[in-house]
Amino acid sequence: MTTKTLTCSFCGKKRSEVQNLISGKQGYICDACVRLCSTVLGKSSSPNAVIEPPSPQSIYDHLSNYVIGQERAKRVLSVAVHNHYKRLQHPEKEIEKSNVLMVGSTGSGKTLLAKTLARMLDVPFAIVDATSLTESGYVGDDVETILTRLLQSTSFDVAAAEKGIIYIDEIDKITRKSDGPSITRDVSGEGVQQALLKMLEGSVINVPVQGGRKHPQQETISVDTTNILFICGGAFDGLERIITQRMEKSSMGFLAPVRDKQATMDYTAVSKNLRTEDFVKFGFIPEFMGRVPFVVTLESLSKEALIDILTKPKNCLINQYKVLFSLNNVKIDFTPESLDIFAEEALKQKTGARGLRNIMDKILLDAMFEVPSKTNIESITITAKTASGEEPAVMNKKKTAKKIKGTA
Ligand code: ADP
Repeated sequence: MTTKTLTCSFCGKKRSEVQNLISGKQGYICDACVRLCSTVLGKSSSPNAVIEPPSPQSIYDHLSNYVIGQERAKRVLSVAVHNHYKRLQHPEKEIEKSNVLMVGSTGSGKTLLAKTLARMLDVPFAIVDATSLTESGYVGDDVETILTRLLQSTSFDVAAAEKGIIYIDEIDKITRKSDGPSITRDVSGEGVQQALLKMLEGSVINVPVQGGRKHPQQETISVDTTNILFICGGAFDGLERIITQRMEKSSMGFLAPVRDKQATMDYTAVSKNLRTEDFVKFGFIPEFMGRVPFVVTLESLSKEALIDILTKPKNCLINQYKVLFSLNNVKIDFTPESLDIFAEEALKQKTGARGLRNIMDKILLDAMFEVPSKTNIESITITAKTASGEEPAVMNKKKTAKKIKGTA
């Protein structure tokens, strides 16, 4: 007897790839296609409810449970989101959109801030990377695919997506390639910025269902971006040099001694002196900057901040390791000196808090390998020597086991 694999007659997905497969007389349809059809017919499933704006303080407090430091960024985001909701509540008052631009080194918490916000607000959220975007018709992804991601995250519930948050990472990669008006078309710089303008300020966009590049056969869905909050982020390497040059030129004194190109950017100095014209010099068209009224710089994380990141947030790495080992009834402790070493190593790697996990996984690998097959371990101590890779983790054996054997 042959077993036929059931597939959706519309998208071709197998039974195992979808949540529901509804059978008809002649074929089958999956849950995603049902939702898509309903959207195409203009009958979205989600109610058009307007959410009561959470207070800036409550947004800030929630962010602080997960994000260490970055006080200014937390405050700016709290106000931007609060205003965003006020705007949703009072569409007649024509309040300007509160899109945000975050400037901060890699691993300083930009994505984490955006993600934590979306989780708190319980709205759809998508992270997209600006690097692959090109102007429509050129090799690369059309700008509209940004919205495809958000739609996919809601299984094509347009009404829900229209109130979502989109985080556009690596926004500094879409700068225009030359200072003056370009002779050849600048399809991955200025072209992309131009294409983003309408989306950021709010308009109805035809979004390709499958993403990628639009082509005539591809089905599209109309999405109104008026109430979608856009948060853009990037490291903006070189911005400090632009500010320094401007300040020197205007003889207002030095921002800092001219730093060599390889030096790590001082984000605190940048934050104090940043002006829109610096972004224009960096390669953004003034119209683009006009669509992101909230600009905030994140600090580079200090050693102390990195230690706090290891130990303080609700789901911090140390707690995660404690849980992992506790599932084998083993307690794991970290000496304060070991935390120092992990943080110093992350600083050396210049990857912000992003590197912490890798660094710790490498050091804890042997313990994570050995502990599950040992029954006589009560606790493990990670010392400074363990953290620096000089000695293995200290494994403390169970006392009771020793007593039974009479070896105590
Ligand atoms: P980026 O600024 O490059 O977007 P991420 O937000 O993706 O950095 O940070 C990478 C990881 O590092 C996060 O998932 C989080 O675990 C940790 N992290 C970074 N910054 C912070 C911070 N300020 N507070 C707590 N954790 C952080």
